[in-house]
Parts: sequence; structure tokens; C-alpha cells
Amino acid sequence: MARPQARAARPAPARARRRIYWFGGGRADGRADMKALLGGKGANLAEMARLGLPVPPGFTISTEACTYYYAHGGGYPPGLKEQVPAALARVEKAVGRRFGDPQKPLLVSVRSGARASMPGMMDTILNLGLNDRTVAGLARETGNPRFAYDCYRRFVQMYGDVVLGLKPETKTERDPFETVLEEKKRARRVKLDTDLDADALRELVAEFKALVRTRKGVRFPEEPEEQLWGAIGAVFGSWMNERAIVYRRLNAIPDTWGTAVNVQAMVFGNMGPDSGTGVAFTRDPATGENVFYGEFLMNAQGEDVVAGVRTPLPIAALERENPKAYAQLMKIRRTLERHYRDVMDIEFTIQQGTLYMLQCRVGKRTALAAVRIALDMVRERLITRDEALRRVEPDGLEQLLRPTFDAKAKDAAVAAGRLLARGLAAGPGAAAGRIAFHADEAEARTARGESVILVRIETSPEDLRGMAASRGILTARGGMTSHAALVGRQMGKVCVVGCEALLIDYEAGTLRVSGRDVVLREGDEVAIDGSTGEVFQGAIPAAPSEVVQVLIDRTRDPATAPVYRMFAQLMKWADQVRRLGIRANADQPDQGAAAAAFGAEGIGLCRTEHMFFGEGKLGPMREMILAETVEERRAALSKLLPFQRADFEGIFEVMQGRPVTIRTIDPPLHEFLPHDEAAQRELAAQMRIPFERVRDRVEALHEFNPMLGFRGCRLGIVYPEITEMQARAIFEAAAHVRKAGTTVEPEVMIPLVGHVKELMLQAAIVRRVADEVMKQEGVRFRYLVGTMIEVPRGALTADEIAAVADFFSFGTNDLTQTTLGVSRDDAGRFLVPYVDRFNIYPRDPFQSLDQDGVGALMKLAVEKARRARPDLKLGICGEHGGEPASVRFCHAIGLDYVSCSPYRVPVARLAAAQAALGPD
Ligand code: ADP
Ligand code: MG
Ligand code: MG
Repeated sequence: MARPQARAARPAPARARRRIYWFGGGRADGRADMKALLGGKGANLAEMARLGLPVPPGFTISTEACTYYYAHGGGYPPGLKEQVPAALARVEKAVGRRFGDPQKPLLVSVRSGARASMPGMMDTILNLGLNDRTVAGLARETGNPRFAYDCYRRFVQMYGDVVLGLKPETKTERDPFETVLEEKKRARRVKLDTDLDADALRELVAEFKALVRTRKGVRFPEEPEEQLWGAIGAVFGSWMNERAIVYRRLNAIPDTWGTAVNVQAMVFGNMGPDSGTGVAFTRDPATGENVFYGEFLMNAQGEDVVAGVRTPLPIAALERENPKAYAQLMKIRRTLERHYRDVMDIEFTIQQGTLYMLQCRVGKRTALAAVRIALDMVRERLITRDEALRRVEPDGLEQLLRPTFDAKAKDAAVAAGRLLARGLAAGPGAAAGRIAFHADEAEARTARGESVILVRIETSPEDLRGMAASRGILTARGGMTSHAALVGRQMGKVCVVGCEALLIDYEAGTLRVSGRDVVLREGDEVAIDGSTGEVFQGAIPAAPSEVVQVLIDRTRDPATAPVYRMFAQLMKWADQVRRLGIRANADQPDQGAAAAAFGAEGIGLCRTEHMFFGEGKLGPMREMILAETVEERRAALSKLLPFQRADFEGIFEVMQGRPVTIRTIDPPLHEFLPHDEAAQRELAAQMRIPFERVRDRVEALHEFNPMLGFRGCRLGIVYPEITEMQARAIFEAAAHVRKAGTTVEPEVMIPLVGHVKELMLQAAIVRRVADEVMKQEGVRFRYLVGTMIEVPRGALTADEIAAVADFFSFGTNDLTQTTLGVSRDDAGRFLVPYVDRFNIYPRDPFQSLDQDGVGALMKLAVEKARRARPDLKLGICGEHGGEPASVRFCHAIGLDYVSCSPYRVPVARLAAAQAALGPD
């Protein structure tokens, strides 16, 4: 018995797993759909190579190697040490150069690339393989020593930063290499990097290396092999740098994915005036228009374009600069869009007139662009309607409902000379707020409740948290593909970039505008229009979005509202495929009207307690609570009845026959009484009763744990006259509205039911009152009596409860609290670290349904209930009803509808359509 086992346990002879995938020369081991293994960059480099596009050859080290690296305390998987040199030899052969060769050296880039795009979060090193010997060879071979030393100084700088960790030591210190570089330019009396000659660059290399020695206490590695392994380790290491971790949290990317490493033969955009580098989108990522969109710089390398070092030229200018390369690029644009059937974001380099492709990925876009591109591509027959529906992020639709500046107020601001400058319109919408020059300042001000515009010369990944906290982002440098633009768009921020007239002085804490006599400081107000690029001094009131103007305000004719028309088209398609019904949570007629305008098919939750706070109602409500006898309570309730009835009439009227679910009173009664003595005295005086009576009643109502206390149906069971009054108000309103010619379908919902007897008691009252009212008013209408399922016992005994109920609505806010045993109001201190730091829940369970826990309980309840009563109507009315992942779950477990806040209705409609389409 023991022997064969021991034999089986012996490790198989070490056959190293494949870690390396080739691309180049029209072939590749990988494909676009291998992102999990090769990262997005590696998979798409492979795909482009297969398409026959000009991709410099290279290889990808898989993400598994990175996962292994972290699982083994920074060790490489077996075999990698042999596989890398073999793959490198293949690159050498493909380009006819040798790594470390002093005559004709091969230089490579070592590039990070994870499964999901994380722009600028991890590291890349260019020109690797240079040392004092190979640089001389490169200079000789190209006859261009300036170029060779430009590569060398870039390499030492990048390697020194990324691998050797020479970074600014304080917040205010500039990049130490940049400081040396600035100093050199000053000494040589030149303005641009490109003006430095070969000698100056050679000196810089020596000075950079000396800086590394003194600051880091290490010598700069000269051996190309050593350089390569240092770079590979650093790229793996960059997966766990702080900004990458923050980015992953913000974008729900698991830490376990790891990054791939791409080692690729270098091509050079810095070889002279006929060389250059650029980035482009196959369509405009801000508006979605079908125009080639991008920018480039001649005589530049890699990051120069995005880093905002020099302001790049628009891609159209490339046609004059280099017509051949431009024509080729236009052809590739078509090839890529036809092949990927989507908008692509590309990186290219032109080396002495020859075009090379260095990256492509599906382009990030604003919500507006996403909608326009999806609709356009259906028209162009690139994608189907179903695909179009899948292409738009449901959450993004909220962006289309966002305000824009009030046109009159904006004109007035222009007339008053408050238009300071114009930059590039990088992220649409209107935002006004106070200036913060630093990310932590932006966070602090936002935490104090201010609206903040982050104003920077340029942003970097370090600014991520500050960008997330700000309402808008404004930069002085950088183009449409700069870090600020890319990340800002993705976050859905209002964003204006490359506003060159702005003169920002971080040290002085001032913002000046060239040619203007204006000095703004931190905390001063500015307003930015991310759809036009305009920057204003002071705030400007915003006006509702086009969609809201058409649907809610009815101040705009749809014929003049193109954004509205796109929105409406997409919504129409969504409605054609979704199975889930969509309702809204609305307590007032105007909310109901808004919900209906956004496409809600009914009200899923009308909370009656909000009505008690209204004009004239709080008095009788308090009388009711302070009542000492049933008679007194009835007297107070009869004063409330006409108010409630009028409220319900209003709701029924605007809902025009759509179903309306009304919940009977839910919160504990002490919420309606004042808690400080002065207010209690005032109340007593008003009601002409002794102060002590008020005080004693408040004390008597005090609860240690109100969430689990005397609330929900418990109130209506102990005080049946409350439920009776509410039922009467609902049904009399229904009768009146019905008689006036509008159909009504009231659904009375009893909250917090855990035991079937609770519902029986309450339903009996409701049904009796319904009969009485119909008889008294001489009119008949359909109505339902149902319950919320929001405590675990209700879910566990759903079959029993279903026998008495006409419908269930999952109250997932309370169901989450009671299932997790977490009070939402007390969860702040631990729930954030639970999600962010310890990964206990992948997302806040009060925002996105905890499917494994709360969801399991819902599933069980649905199964039990449907078995007992197949025609039972099932819905959800918690916050989760408008959150796309939760909507998908509700679809999967077979609910009939979801209900969410009015402005989330479009989101829910699209999410429901995507759920119906299933995974793609
Ligand atoms: P990121 O993911 O931050 O964009 P990349 O790996 O794409 O980093 O590289 C940074 C820059 O260097 C890009 O502009 C890219 O085009 C350029 N680059 C990368 N590899 C090469 C190469 N082999 N030859 C020339 N330029 C390169
Ligand atoms: Mg890139
Ligand atoms: Mg509840």
C-alpha cells in the first residue's frame, strides 16, 4: 500500500514548463485571446505579428512566471534561465544583430504588460544592452553618435529609476536625473533635450552613473545579461508597487493575475528628423466620432509623447511630415478595426521613414464615445446589435445624464472676461470647484466636502488617489493621450489637458495665465468644460444634460438633441432583449415622473414614512406616537389619513396605470420625535401636554439596537390601527383616481416579515380595508398584498410566506445587514479595510450584492417560494437593484423585476439587457 504511493509522489523528471512565447516576422506563438497568459500587450503584439503588421520581433515571458515569482519569494521558475537566452538568440537572428556585440549590438526593450491595461502603472525599460563598448559600436555603425548617446542616457536614466530605485526622496524634490539634465541644458545654453549634442549626452551618461553610485551605493551594471535579468525582475516587481496596487483596487483587478514581460528588439524614433514616435486611437475616444485621432513627435523616443515633455503634433500633421508612413498608418487603422471590430489604441514608431507597430489594445473611451461607436459600428456592419449592447458599460450611462454648463451663465462668464484659457477637451462634462495643486490636497479638500479641481502641470500615476477624489482634472501639458487624459476619461472625470497658457508654480502655490493679469491660489474657484476645453475663473452654474432636458425638463426638442437620440436608440434595443422588468424607488410624484421618463415600468418601492415629514403631517404623526390610548391614536391617525391619501393620489396619477408598490410604515417611531430637551419642550407646548410626557415617551422608545428593534411590521401588528389607516389611504386614493379615469394597480408591501403569521395578521387588515373601501366607493380595482424579504427567517421560510403573499420584494439593504450581521451605519471603520486591504469581500456588499452569502439566501427563497406558488411575483428594491453585477444576478435567479433610484433606471435597463444576452 505504502510503496506505490511513495513512487507516485516522486517528482517527475524536471521538464520545465513553457514560459516564453515568440512574436515577429509574420508569426507568433500567442494570440489576442491569450491575454490571461501573455498580458494584453504580449497577446496583441502576437496578434499584430500574425496579421503581418510590422512588429519588431521579440518574446513574452508569461504571467505564470510572475505568479511563480511571487509564490516563491522572488525566484524564477525552473527553465526560465535557459529559455530566455534561447529566445534572445532567435531575436538576434531575426534582426541580424547580437546582444552585447561591440560592433552591431542588439538593443531591446523590456516591457511590462498585464492582462488588463494599467496605463503607466508598471515599468518599461528601453535601449537595454548599452554599455561603454556597445554605445561606441552603435555610434560608429549609424554614423550618428548623438543618437547613440541619446539612447544611452535614456537607458541609464530609466534603468537607474526602475531597477536601481533612484527616485526623488521627498515630495518636493524633482526627479534627480531630470535635475542633472536641466543643469546640463542650462550649462550648454539650450532649451530642448534635442539640442544637446553627443558630447553633452556622453557627459550626462557619466554624471547619471556617478549619481547612481553616490545615491544608491551600487555601480551601474555594464553586462547586458545582468541588465536584462535586473530589468525582468524589476518589471515583475512593479506589479506590486504602490500605484499599481491602488490602480487595481480602483478597477477591481485581482492581485493574483501578475504581469507578463515583453522583451522586444528596439526600433528608434530618435534617429533624426525622419524618425518619430506616436500614439493614436482609430476613432475619437472623447466623442466617438469616426476620425483618426492621435499625436506624434518627430525625433523622439517612447514615452516622450505621453510624458508631456514636448507638446506633440496632431496626427493629421504626419501627412505633411511623412506621407508614406501616414498612408501606411491609415491602412493599419482600417486593418485593425476590421480585425478587432472595435476602436483600437495604438503605439507606433517611425525609424528613418519606416513604420513599426509597438502596441495595440482596445481603446478606452468616454460613455458618450462608447455609445456613439457602438451605434456607428452596427451601421457599418462591423458588429451586431447584441454586441453593441454589450459594448457599453451600464454604469457609464450615468455620465450621459451629467450636467453641462448652463449656456447663459457660460456666455455671461465669457462676456465678463472670465474665460482664462483653452486646452484640449479630454473628458466631457462640466465641473466647477476649488483648486488643489497636489493629490493629497485634493483628497483632503474632498474629505471636507469641497468640490475640487486638481490642477497640475501634468499628472503621473502617483496622483491617482487625488484624481479619483477630484471632480475635474486640469493640466498645463500633455495631449489627448497623456496620463491625465487617459486615466481621467476612464474614471469618468471632467478633464481638460494641455492647457499651455497656464503657468503653474507648485512652490509658490500659484496658477497664472500667460498674457493675463490673474493669480489664482489653492482653494480659489475655477470651472472647466471637458467638452470644449474651456477654463474659467470662478464657478459657473451647470445645466442638466441633453437627456434630462429632453426627458425630464421637456425644454428641448429631441430633433436638436443628438446625444439624447443616441441614448434613446440604445435604450430601445436594450428593452427589446431584456427579460427583467425595471422599476424605480420613488416616494414623491416628481420622482415617479422622472422614473417613468427614464423608462421605469412602475414603482418598486414607495416609502410612506418620508411622507410623514412633509408640511402639516409631522404634528399629527407625533400626536399619534404620543397617544396613550387607542382612541387618541385613532384620532391622530384620522388627521393623517387625508394627507396620505393625497400623496398616494399624486403618485397614482403620474404613474398612469403602472404598478405602484407601497410599503407600510417601517422605521422605529422615535425617529419622528425630537431628541434634545428644548425641542421636546417646544413640542409639549404646541401639543398642550406636559413636557414630562414627551420626555418619558422618548425615553420609553429608546432602543439599544433600533435596526433590530420595534419597527417594520412589528409596529403594524402591535398598533393595527396604523396599518388600517395606511391601507385606507392607499385604497381610497386608488378609488378616487380610478373613478377619474386612470387605471391603478396598488401593491401593498409589508416590511420586515420573518414569520408567516406576521404577514397573515397584516394582510388580513389590508384585505378587509380593501373590501370596505371598494364597497363604500362603489368601484373595483386590482390590488396585491405582498411582503419584503429582508430578514433571513423570511427567506428560510419563503414557502410558508408565499402561501399568503401575492409578491415578494427582496429588501437587500436590510437583508445584507441581517445576513452579514453588519450594521451599515457602523460599518465604516472596518468595511473599507475589509474590502481594500484584506480582500474579504471583493466589493462593498452594500453596493454590490454579496452573491455567495446574501445571494444564496435569495436563491433559496426564490426556489422555495416558486415551488409553493409558481405565479408569485418577485422583485428587488434594495440599492443593489441598479448595480450591474447585482442586476445580472437577479436575472440569473429568475426575479421578475429590479427596482432602483430613478437616475439608475437607464443603467438597470442596459444591465438587464446584458444579463439576458448572457456572457459573450
Ligand atoms: P506602457 O505600458 O507604459 O505604455 P510600453 O511598454 O508600451 O509602456 O513602453 C513605453 C514606450 O516605449 C512606448 O511609447 C512604447 O511604444 C515604447 N517602446 C516600447 N518598446 C519599444 C521598442 N522595442 N522600440 C521602440 N519603442 C519602444
Ligand atoms: Mg504602451
Ligand atoms: Mg428594510
